[in-house]
Amino acid sequence: MIYNITMKPLTIAVIGGGAAGLVASALLTSYENCRVLLFERNDRLGKKLSATGNGQGNITHRALSVDAYFAQSALPKSKVARMLSLYDDDSVCAFFQTLGVLTDTDVKGRVYPSGRQASAVTDALRFSLGKNVDVRLQTKVTWLEKQANGFMLTAETQDGVCHFFADYVLLCTGGKAAKNFGTDGSAYALAEGLGHSRTALCPSLVQLKTDVKAIRTLKGIRVADGGVTAYVNGEKKATLQGDIIFTDYGVSGDAIFRISAYIADKIDKGVTLSLDLLPRYTQEELISAMRNKRERFPELGFCELLGGTLNNQVGRAVLKTVKDGDIPAAAKAVKAFPLTVTGTLGFDYAQVTKGGIPLDETDDTLQSTLIQGLYFAGETLDIDGACGGYNLQWAYTSARIVVDALIEKIGK
Ligand SMILES: Cc1cc2nc3c(=O)[nH]c(=O)nc-3n(C[C@H](O)[C@H](O)[C@H](O)COP(=O)(O)OP(=O)(O)OC[C@H]3O[C@@H](n4cnc5c(N)ncnc54)[C@H](O)[C@@H]3O)c2cc1C
Repeated sequence: MIYNITMKPLTIAVIGGGAAGLVASALLTSYENCRVLLFERNDRLGKKLSATGNGQGNITHRALSVDAYFAQSALPKSKVARMLSLYDDDSVCAFFQTLGVLTDTDVKGRVYPSGRQASAVTDALRFSLGKNVDVRLQTKVTWLEKQANGFMLTAETQDGVCHFFADYVLLCTGGKAAKNFGTDGSAYALAEGLGHSRTALCPSLVQLKTDVKAIRTLKGIRVADGGVTAYVNGEKKATLQGDIIFTDYGVSGDAIFRISAYIADKIDKGVTLSLDLLPRYTQEELISAMRNKRERFPELGFCELLGGTLNNQVGRAVLKTVKDGDIPAAAKAVKAFPLTVTGTLGFDYAQVTKGGIPLDETDDTLQSTLIQGLYFAGETLDIDGACGGYNLQWAYTSARIVVDALIEKIGK
């Protein structure tokens, strides 16, 4: 079947009804000069967006900075900083307020919809789509072809293979992380088919596999608000605090997810973690507490000396790694428990993809430098953010940058 829809108004094909595609479509809906064709392979829009922030939707962060973003190719910092300054965290909040969604900021600077429901964010975007947005669900775009006056899209639909024509294309098909939300990485082929390259892909915001010898007995135990420092080939990359959960494959928990953003793509270079299992106490305080305990209870075995200070099993596991009776070494191991990272749990468990279409294959408006009329937004580009709302912020910022450029072209 062929749908010919290149008559005026101009047609913009938005491929991917996730965070970036929904924001772009919501913004374009007030421009009657254009018709938006929003393609989504899933049976509903914003499936991943509705699951963000443990279902609460951490939509941005108050400490917005280009330093919270990474890339596999060189990150063009000034380009990204300029975009973020045009559409920042205040801008996200103001935008959602226009859609009837108020926001709250938690003590860590993370911003959520005040009702703490990510699905409400998706709904607000969905409800805002006007008549000029034609939503095509269960429509997987499989090929993109540049033609003299626009683009031809080939898509798998419930009615079989269909072709669509559009004047402009916004490709915002996400990355390869969490394929249960429709993002299996197959959509990079749409850009590659038009000559774009793609950097190596790697899961981020993900659990880490480690050498498990020393932690085999600790499966399921959580260290609340522990410290974690990551080193690559001996060089310190990041240090932060949060929950650490021991698992049968390595470590999980909020602190691990967050630190993975700094090292997940560097594991082949040699990554080690140093866990601070008791950040509220210094090594000296710990030595003194252990010595006092040994004097007070001389009958206690060395392996029991950390009971009451750490979870018993964690304490025993730590003490097993040092020489019997060596209290200073034990205190040091509590403050800097070493783990060698051997991998990640992979794309299926990751929240974000590192890598994608290099930003230097786009101009300042995120238009392809190879194909006029083709734009990119969101995670499909080679840029990924730290944990805490930075990825949804990028989806929003990049979508707005593209919409500004499109409106400039099609006229108000
Ligand atoms: C469980 C989870 C929790 C997260 N929590 C947060 C959080 O709290 N804060 C934060 O900032 N980030 C969070 N993220 C990351 C964030 O959701 C993503 O970075 C963001 O959604 C990317 O937006 P996007 O529009 O680029 O891609 P997506 O939101 O992934 O949307 C891409 C869409 O394109 C569709 N698609 C793909 N290929 C095709 C095709 N060929 N044809 C048609 N449609 C196609 C997909 O089905 C998908 O709906 C989380 C991610 C996960 C998985």
